[in-house]
Formats: sequence, C-alpha cells, structure tokens
Amino acid sequence: MKLIVIGGVVAGMSAAAKLKRMNRDAKVVVYEKGDYLSYGACGLPYYVSGENNDHTKMIARTKEEFEEAGMDIFTQHEVVKVSPERKQVMVKNLENGDVFIDSYDKLMIATGAIANKPPFPGMNLNRIEILKTMENGLHMKEVVEQNDVQNVVIVGGGYIGIEVVEAMRYAGKNVTLIEHEDRILTNFDEEITEKVTKEMKANEVTLRLGEAVESFEGDGTVTHVLTNKDRYPADLVVIAVGVKPATKFLEGTGIHLAKNGAIIIDREMRTNVEGIYAAGDCAEVYHKVMQENAYIPLGTNANKCGRIAGANIAGEHQKYIGTLGSAAIKAFNLEVGRTGLSEADAKRLAIDYTTTFIESTDHPAYYPDATPIWIKLISEKGTKRLLGAQAVGNKGVVLRIDVLAVAIHQKMAADELGMVDLCYAPPFAGVWDAVHIASNAVKE
Ligand code: FAD
Repeated sequence: MKLIVIGGVVAGMSAAAKLKRMNRDAKVVVYEKGDYLSYGACGLPYYVSGENNDHTKMIARTKEEFEEAGMDIFTQHEVVKVSPERKQVMVKNLENGDVFIDSYDKLMIATGAIANKPPFPGMNLNRIEILKTMENGLHMKEVVEQNDVQNVVIVGGGYIGIEVVEAMRYAGKNVTLIEHEDRILTNFDEEITEKVTKEMKANEVTLRLGEAVESFEGDGTVTHVLTNKDRYPADLVVIAVGVKPATKFLEGTGIHLAKNGAIIIDREMRTNVEGIYAAGDCAEVYHKVMQENAYIPLGTNANKCGRIAGANIAGEHQKYIGTLGSAAIKAFNLEVGRTGLSEADAKRLAIDYTTTFIESTDHPAYYPDATPIWIKLISEKGTKRLLGAQAVGNKGVVLRIDVLAVAIHQKMAADELGMVDLCYAPPFAGVWDAVHIASNAVKE
C-alpha cells in the first residue's frame, strides 16, 4: 500500500506517522513545498518576540527522523495537480523546476491554509509581512531586529494579530493595531473582548477600531499605512486578516469543497472520493455542539484529525468525536479562552439559549495575589445544558476553560457542573471555584 501525503506539517505528518506505526510495510511518500516539516507554527510569535531564540525548538521531528522511520520525504516539492481517476499526482520540484507524476493507492491532503493578502495598493512593498510559516517567522525576526524598525502596524485583531501585537511590544516597538470591526477578537463575545481591549491600552498599544486600511506608501519599503480615517508611519506592517484553505489546486478534481474552499470530509476524514482523505486547516471539521461541519483552522484539530486519518488509511474506521473550537490566547497579562458556542454562534444556529456572566477570583482573597476572573456561559434555556464558555483573567483561566470543555463535551447541565468535586486549597481555588460559581448562577 502506498500513501502519498501532500503537506508535511501537522495533519500530514500525524497521518503519516500513525499509518507507519500501524503498518510498517506501508510506503509513505510526503511532498512538502516548504523547507520545514512537523513544526508548531503556534510558537512563531514567541520566536519573533525574542522570548525563544532557537527556531529548532519548534520542530517536533526532522526530515532525517521521518526518513529513519522509513518514509520518503521531499521538501521543496509542490503537488500542482491531483488526478483521482488515475490515482496520480503531478509534482513540481521547486529547486530545479522539474515536473513529474507519482501514483498512490491512498492520498492524504494536508495542505493547510494560506494567509489572506488583500490587494491593497502598495502590498508589494518591502516589510509588509505575514506570519504563517516557519519561513515567515525566520524572516520577520530578522526584520524586527533591525534598528530602524520602530513603528509596527498590525492589520487585523484576531488571534494572530493580537499575538503579534504582544510580540512586537515585547521586542520594544511602537505598535498600532488597525481593525475594521469595532472590536478585537470577534471570535469572543463583547464582555470578554472589552477586558482585552483595556489590557492592550494599558500596554501602550494604539488601537484603531472601526477603521479600514486602504493602501500602503513607501519607496521600495513601506513607510506609511493609509486608512479611511488617517495615515500612520510604519517601518513594518504585519497583515493578519485570516486564512483560507490551500485547496485551489484541487479545483476540477471532483473532490467536494465548501464555499470557502475547505475540503468537505466526514468524521473518518474521508473526502467524497474513495481513497482520498484530508484533515487540518485545508478541511472542515465536525463540531460536537453544532453537530455539523465547521471551518476551525487550529492545531488542536489538525493533530487529532490527522492521526485519525492515518489510522483509517491503515484500515480502521475511527470517527472524530468532534471539535469544540477550544482556543486560548495570551494578551499581555491576560489569559483568554473559549470553548463550544459563542453567543453569536447560538444566535446563528437559532438555539433558545441563555447567557450568564460572573466575576470571581482565581483563588480566595485570604491567600496573596488573588486576581479577578470573568466567565461567560452559554446554556440551553430550560435544560441548562452547557453549550459554550468564555473566560478572561490574569491566571487560571485556560485550565477552567478546559474543565468547561469536558463538561460541554459530556453534555452536562450547569446544575451538575455546579456540584462537581473540583480541587480546593487557598493557593489554587476557592471551595466554590469560579467554574462552580458561574454554573450555579445559570438561572433558567
Ligand atoms: P499547515 O501547518 O499549514 O501545513 C500545511 C503544509 O502544506 C505547509 O507547510 C505547506 O507548505 C504545505 N503545502 C501546501 N500546499 C502544498 C502543495 N500543493 N504541495 C505540497 N505542500 C503543500 N493553533 C492552535 O490550536 N493553537 C495556537 O495557539 C495556534 N497558534 C498559531 C499561531 C500562528 C502564528 C499560526 C500561523 C498558527 C497558529 N495555530 C494555532 C494554527 C495551527 O498552526 C494550524 O492549525 C496548523 O498548523 C494546521 O496544520 P496543517 O497541517 O493543517 O497545516
């Protein structure tokens, strides 16, 4: 059995490694168009900031290690075409331009996503960057280390935009964040983002909300960002306005794609074409609460779904239990996390829901350094079944979101979670933990 894997970072290498563990005799060929395999892009902001100066720490396994495990690895090789009827792929060697055909029994598509680059006039100026791949991170760090880079403008206030804001402040830059919505982190509800906005301002980030970038100025290298309201000096611009699935090369293959281009897969990671599997940022993922596919490009999903794809390619029929879209972000001294549905999701799905918002502390005031923690719950009206949770605070937020994720996954009602036997000791939590307090505050 020969598997060809397209894309060698998270989902692709998880599938390849799982298949090899289950079937040593399987031939596994990986085509990756970049130079790096199996790395955690999630670590890039902390590399750019200088908190970690060794990029190899982000690499989980090297090309040599995969080769020792018996795989054929080709970096700098891009798959430009898939022919499902012939079970073949067309591959371009990016080093010498050669093009060749290879055949597979099974195909794993794990091409991830590409960063959106809106066609603003001036987009081709130097020092207008994105942060998506290891190569982007290595380059951005070099730019950040230049003495003449003082004013950094970040376009887009989503997860990556906020992480880059923090990285640039850590590196000592003057930072302006421009977001065309009237608030940042729109994946979170307003009660939560309001706290993050305050934290940004407290850390001397210039926030320009409800403002749209129109163009960039410069003579070879960017010098200014023009919006519909103002003009900002910029020695470096980082564009962080979302991603789209890297699936253009699949058009016309008969593989079903969603409206946004994500590959439609079932819970076994199978596409509609026999023998072709997909997972990670190039594909949709089954959502446990929504009970339908969603597009949630996160490493959490890419790892698990890639591994399931590998097991199923080896002959199993594992089904993904479903994502909750659990995600966390550090914004200076704040931890911010979410899991399950947001209020906006519940509205869109026409669920009869109720929300509960509480303020508590991470541990009792009689032990030093207690800090506030805010939790918002979204629950089903009547049954009080927990559907979603978001939280923000200085400490202990993300682990509480993890507790809530398990409760949501298990379809628990707020009343039940309000009595679950969680740990209590003054340095860590109150006898009624913030999770209990939020759950017991759900009224209908
Ligand atoms: P990718 O990691 O994008 O890998 C796809 C690979 O396919 C790429 O290397 C690409 O070169 C290759 N490729 C594409 N097309 C072809 C082709 N035609 N032929 C050959 N090769 C091809 N997620 C979290 O859960 N938590 C976080 O904290 C988090 N932080 C992040 C921070 C940053 C800055 C970034 C950029 C991402 C972050 N993510 C985070 C998201 C996470 O990194 C992705 O969800 C994950 O990398 C997706 O894995 P993947 O294998 O699907 O795709």
